[in-house]
Amino acid sequence: MITAQGVSGQTYAVLGLGRSGISAARALQQGGAQVWAWDDMAEARDRASAQGIPMHDLTRAQWNEADCLIVSPGIPHLYPTPNPIIHAALRAGVPVDNDIGLFFRCFSDQDWQDFDTVPKVVTVTGSNGKSTTSALIHHILQSANRPTQLAGNIGRGVFDIEPAIDGEVVVLELSSYQTELARALTPDIAVLTNISPDHLDRHAGLGGYFAAKRRLFAEGGPDRAIIGIDETEGLFLANQLSQGAHDDRVIRISSAQKIDGNGWNVFARKGFLSEYRKGKQVASIDLRDMRGLPGAHNHQNACAAYAVTRSLGLAPRVIEQGMASFGGLAHRSQHIAEKNGVHFVNDSKATNVDSAVKALEAFENIRWICGGLQKEGGLDALRAPAAANVKRAYVIGREAAQFALQLSCETVVCTTMETAVQQAATDAVSGDTVLLAPAAASFDQYDNFEQRGQDFIDQVAKI
Ligand code: ADP
Repeated sequence: MITAQGVSGQTYAVLGLGRSGISAARALQQGGAQVWAWDDMAEARDRASAQGIPMHDLTRAQWNEADCLIVSPGIPHLYPTPNPIIHAALRAGVPVDNDIGLFFRCFSDQDWQDFDTVPKVVTVTGSNGKSTTSALIHHILQSANRPTQLAGNIGRGVFDIEPAIDGEVVVLELSSYQTELARALTPDIAVLTNISPDHLDRHAGLGGYFAAKRRLFAEGGPDRAIIGIDETEGLFLANQLSQGAHDDRVIRISSAQKIDGNGWNVFARKGFLSEYRKGKQVASIDLRDMRGLPGAHNHQNACAAYAVTRSLGLAPRVIEQGMASFGGLAHRSQHIAEKNGVHFVNDSKATNVDSAVKALEAFENIRWICGGLQKEGGLDALRAPAAANVKRAYVIGREAAQFALQLSCETVVCTTMETAVQQAATDAVSGDTVLLAPAAASFDQYDNFEQRGQDFIDQVAKI
């Protein structure tokens, strides 16, 4: 783990004691800060106390004695209503930050004088594809024997990484919750994969959500910005960040169209990735047989990872080799099994409509398992033409009948995963894909999307 720098003798309140909160509290303690840790849940407090982290009831804090408040990403500071502890700190004028802001302040403070090649930080944000893109960048670098570490929203606190070594690349996945609050955001390379409506209650709408992601580029000022331009928000942001068509600080990426112009562009069409620079094609990669990267949505991730690793000096051939050996992430277009020509794919992470549409576009002859806790925004996007590849939908979830009514394809109300998998497998013929892509959250029946995906895997194993 790494130690927080420049905090010695100061008082840091830490609100929220999940993985990132505990890791920040420990880093602060090691850096000589006095830590006031707190969580609304007694269980979380007990877990943190057991690890030697001192508790302090922040509902009664004397805020004039605190230097900073570090907040976990799940706790709202503005919308839908601010957490009262954060509100009290704001009223007292105490700087509110998160572990990401603290990390960037510490990382740039490290002593680089013994290094030949200064470590770099790559950050990845976007509505979908953050984890896959971050993991893919990390994998390509690993397979090219470049030192690299992966952390952030992907399940490893930023302070849990090892101190960076010579030439290392730290890859951080960052959510909108994280970019919205961090007081320092200074990556060397920053990626925006795409934008679609999500977490709208936390950002008071799409404008707030985009603004939260935009901070990474507008306030962070990365040396290189890699931007998905398939939505207007990305198109606008790329335009705003570059001085003109020749400005190499921005690389535009797309999985929907050829990008014209004299800039640095990476796009995928019909399964081929192309890199163009100053109007000329530099390289091309055939993505069609890459098992870990099925579908246009994963080709978008491939474009982003390609642009990052090219920026870091890797040759196209080396990047291609890395991509070919990428196995994909669990619960994201994850190929589970094949029986009698029927493929079983687990995309439990398709918790919103947009990611489910992408999964439906990536496969053919689909036996589609969907449903769960519906998110705001409706299911209209799942109707034709998105459902053109669907033979039948097998709907799960407590409100399965209600969910099924909103779809335009043929449906069967199954409610449980067990029934859905059995029914889909019985109906399937060679060449079909039984695809779990719920387009909904899992909390009506499961603790999280991982548990839902595991249930799918277990049910598939049974047959
Ligand atoms: P995130 O970390 O942003 O949630 P993941 O890589 O975990 O992204 O993927 C989340 C869901 O979105 C999965 O269902 C996955 O198949 C789908 N997905 C992955 N990449 C993209 C993309 N570029 N565009 C749309 N959907 C995607």
